[in-house]
Amino acid sequence: MPTFRAPRGTRDLLPAETPTWTRLERLAADLAARYGYRRIETPMFEQTAVFERGVGEVTDIVEKELFRIAPRTEEAESWSLRPEPTAGIVRAYVQHGMQTWPQPVKLAMTGPMFRYDRPQAGRYRQFWQFDIEAIGDAGAAVDAEIIELGARFYRDAGLAGVEVLLNSIGDAACRPAYVAELTAYYRTHVAELPPLERDRLERNALRLLDSKDPAMAALNAAAPHITDRLCDACAEHFAAVRAHLDALGVPYRLEPGLVRGLDYYTRTAFEYYVRGREGQQQALGGGGRYDGLVELLGGRPTPGIGFGIGLDRLVLALGEGSAATQSDAADPVAVVAGADPDDTVTRLRIATDLRAAGVPARADLARRKLGKQLEGAARDGAHFAIIVGDELDGGEVQLRDLPAGTQKLVAVGDLAREVARAHGAHRHGKDKNEVEA
Ligand code: AMP
Repeated sequence: MPTFRAPRGTRDLLPAETPTWTRLERLAADLAARYGYRRIETPMFEQTAVFERGVGEVTDIVEKELFRIAPRTEEAESWSLRPEPTAGIVRAYVQHGMQTWPQPVKLAMTGPMFRYDRPQAGRYRQFWQFDIEAIGDAGAAVDAEIIELGARFYRDAGLAGVEVLLNSIGDAACRPAYVAELTAYYRTHVAELPPLERDRLERNALRLLDSKDPAMAALNAAAPHITDRLCDACAEHFAAVRAHLDALGVPYRLEPGLVRGLDYYTRTAFEYYVRGREGQQQALGGGGRYDGLVELLGGRPTPGIGFGIGLDRLVLALGEGSAATQSDAADPVAVVAGADPDDTVTRLRIATDLRAAGVPARADLARRKLGKQLEGAARDGAHFAIIVGDELDGGEVQLRDLPAGTQKLVAVGDLAREVARAHGAHRHGKDKNEVEA
């Protein structure tokens, strides 16, 4: 048993897994940029009140899962690790006067989130989200743009069969009457409610609909639906979102029970689902409109919409968890070996010059026999071994093409150019064969 282990609910991402993560992070950044969403970074912790207000006090995320940082002194501010990105981004929007920028302000962020949840498969205490927010546009078109962007992210990531679940949860005009009706419904079943849900019933009945407790499933399936009780403005907005999605050819399924776990969502709510390997449905990501949130965090009333896409569950769904899938970006193209095991200076100098010229290169610094050095180069998947020997007196080294088994003398000054040229031609040939195959 090692003395120290990663904290419960967290994982180390080892080099065999990180190429998948790098690929997904790049894809997220590329798509965000293509759609005009600009990168923002906010702190990983905020004043606890940002989340209490911005997520809602009567939510699982704040009541049960908020990762609070123990203050050092009596009078210290209460801080918490961010459980989701929207509250912090909206806090930044208000703080930096972004309401004076051209609207909507379109922002993207990818980073770790923290929830003090009970760890299980696909549920961690530190996990990653790709997040998109458009703040300052009330129209239904931006809802469709964001939903389509998320769907494209999964498709481009290589995950087929992701379903969009869609609902509208109304607004301040129509939701109170619905919540009253829902409260009355649950009151008639109060004996069947688990303790936490019973406790929440009078404070926020909408949360019961969103409960993960299996004891709630049957009750929730029979609960009244908000979709039938939307005010005209919300019904119109919902119809327009659907019309835009239809026009974009984005399939979706209406899910009247979908309310999302955050308090200040209004109107559009959506989730991305995929059938898990054991057949159960798993939420891969979700989002919604939050037209009341900017005001709650101290800004002028401003509409907004966004999504958070969990990368951990996407990686699980892709089944790429621990497999080394692609050739690693850190594989060297050239390994510098030498007949004199002790001459690490020359080998390191040649590798350094190659790297400065842009060639991924490694020097063998282990002070071992040439044969062992060459075995290492082959094991690394290097294309070339550069062998330093007596020819160095004439300013030359051997350049050995490992897969081809050929070798020639090259002037040290020409190495980078020669390696880049030969490696480029080799890769081109490989790509051509792959296309033809
Ligand atoms: P939520 O805001 O709770 O809907 O979360 C959005 C997405 O983040 C989910 O669909 C998951 O993919 C991911 N996610 C949320 N909580 C966790 C967690 N504890 N562990 C891993 N991924 C999570």
